[in-house]
Amino acid sequence: YKWVDLKGVAQEFDERGKVTKVLGFIADIQKRRDDEQALIEAKQRAEESDRLKSAFLANVSHEIRTPLNAIVGFSEVIAHTEGECEREEYLDIVKANSNLLLHLINDILDLSRIESGKMEFIDENIQMDELCEELRQMHQMRIKNDVKVIFERPAVSLTIVSDSHRLRQLYSNLISNAIKYTEKGSITLGYKLKGNMMEGYVRDTGSGIPKELRERVFEPFFRVDKSRSRKLGGVGLGLALVREIVRVHDGSIAVRSNPSGGTVFDVILPL
Ligand code: ADP
Repeated sequence: YKWVDLKGVAQEFDERGKVTKVLGFIADIQKRRDDEQALIEAKQRAEESDRLKSAFLANVSHEIRTPLNAIVGFSEVIAHTEGECEREEYLDIVKANSNLLLHLINDILDLSRIESGKMEFIDENIQMDELCEELRQMHQMRIKNDVKVIFERPAVSLTIVSDSHRLRQLYSNLISNAIKYTEKGSITLGYKLKGNMMEGYVRDTGSGIPKELRERVFEPFFRVDKSRSRKLGGVGLGLALVREIVRVHDGSIAVRSNPSGGTVFDVILPL
């Protein structure tokens, strides 16, 4: 089927007045229809993007206000507090909220720089074994309970061309989340060759993510349990950033449940 533009005029008639000849033209307007449809879709995408930006901004304002209120409020209270213990307790609150604010602002800046294409990615050769071992050690030191961080060394070591700072950020965000949501068991990171791509993964034995919410965790500020995430120092942008880093690398990311409980994030990146 094709869209056509058809115009005609009756030219000749028989004795009863019935049309016997029509003169006209038929023009193929399929391309025009396709172009119109493409424009309609582009407009819808622009409107959707505009709506998402406004929602993002509203979220940012709300998220900034919460720790800022705590900082302003408790700083004032400290000035009028005599007891040493109480002062220390309030100072800890101010410190925790300052860190949260800093973390939030850094993530917002990174996210908008990547989205607007202003972030520079410097490619270099990265030895994946070295990177993973370094990440393992760094995160193991941060763990306060007896959860183990394991690097599953693959049979074939890989070197990938990527921006090492961003690749580290990608893995770090996934491992930090695994640490936050795992109370016992282990966190396993690793990578393997998959066709001509690399598949990186971070697996944990933590609380897991309900199936119906798995796709949503990549949305900015989406959290399965907001108050729990906040208590653990989360600002809800970690996975949005991971998704953007993956997008810039023309890769893909997926989340599934770990058969032995917990969550697995699989990231596929071109070598
Ligand atoms: P946050 O700063 O809250 O951790 P993220 O964008 O990194 O934000 O993650 C979004 C949400 O996804 C988290 O609040 C949490 O509910 C869920 N999540 C992410 N990683 C895990 C994980 N490994 N185990 C369980 N839940 C997770």
